[in-house]
Amino acid sequence: MGVTTTANKMKRTGIKDLQRPIIISGPCSAETEEQVMQTAKDLHATGKVDMLRAGIWKPRTRPNSFEGIGEKGLDWLVAAGEETGLPVITEVANTKHVERCLKKGFDRLWIGARTTVNPFAVQEIADALKGTRVEVLVKNPINPDLNLWIGAIERFQNVGLDDVHAIHRGFSSVMSRKYRNDPMWEIPIALKRTFPEIKMICDPSHITGKRDLIFDVSQKAMDLIYDGLMIESHPDPDNAWSDAAQQVTPLKLKEILDRLIIRKEFPEGVKVAEDLSDLRLKINDIDYELIRLIAQRMVVAEEIGQYKKEHNITILQPNRWAEIKRLQLENAERQGLSSKFVSKFLEAIHQESIRHQTAIMNKG
Ligand code: PEP
Ligand code: MN
Repeated sequence: MGVTTTANKMKRTGIKDLQRPIIISGPCSAETEEQVMQTAKDLHATGKVDMLRAGIWKPRTRPNSFEGIGEKGLDWLVAAGEETGLPVITEVANTKHVERCLKKGFDRLWIGARTTVNPFAVQEIADALKGTRVEVLVKNPINPDLNLWIGAIERFQNVGLDDVHAIHRGFSSVMSRKYRNDPMWEIPIALKRTFPEIKMICDPSHITGKRDLIFDVSQKAMDLIYDGLMIESHPDPDNAWSDAAQQVTPLKLKEILDRLIIRKEFPEGVKVAEDLSDLRLKINDIDYELIRLIAQRMVVAEEIGQYKKEHNITILQPNRWAEIKRLQLENAERQGLSSKFVSKFLEAIHQESIRHQTAIMNKG
């Protein structure tokens, strides 16, 4: 948190200057002045936290739940930042929020998942930030739409903001029973491919929705080379006014962070390329073989397609498809492969076979 003087304008340390893992923590919502100050002091005392977060305006699914403490919470955050030296960050969802934060000297803001889904809202916020040097962290949209996330980041970049980063908080899904939000790791990985220079922060609190699962998701994020973590913390999590089940005490946060193993992509003194070259050649050979076999399978599928065409048989034959799945899921179990993975793999192959057979049907 900084008052924007000419001096700190020139050499502000931003998220991009921080060491991995960058740790952002603090309550889901600011509730009282004491709660914000206590959390900040306890987090600072861990020696492991880089930034203090708290929601002031809370986008809630239904009205009549706690919708945030409002503007006065900004002063509490500023005070806690000044007391501990921790930079502070809060969520904005409209231009009024932006104006109030700018007035209080905030130079870091995050965009919530319910805002990222709306290009009009994102554009208005971006326009309100034009000409500032505010650092913006963009949470993924609620729905698993990579382009919506990319688009929101571009809107901030397009108004000239240099420090735009991403927070992965998972996606609403009817499928995920284990987690509150399905992580769908492939989406943030694809985002990072689009913007290699941005920092990717994982939010295991909103992914899991349960404090006991935070460690595992944090470790996974670190092993996927995420730059940091945003974890909700509260002095008395069970009595938090929002997201009680997923918050941890600052002490518990320290335990989680102490247990994490921070592996590196290229550790110093280790000749990764040399040590792994034999195994990597083996993997390449196996992949070539896999692709060759799949191509061979398509040739056979086309021959079957030709037969179906000549005898007016439908391309899809649900019983045959069910038999293929049953046989290969049994096989997968014997081979120690997960049925979820093998199902997805078979579905993809089946789709491709149908595409080949459709081409045969439509020929001539
Ligand atoms: C939050 O960080 O408290 C929050 C509201 O998150 P999200 O936008 O990810 O739901
Ligand atoms: Mn929350």
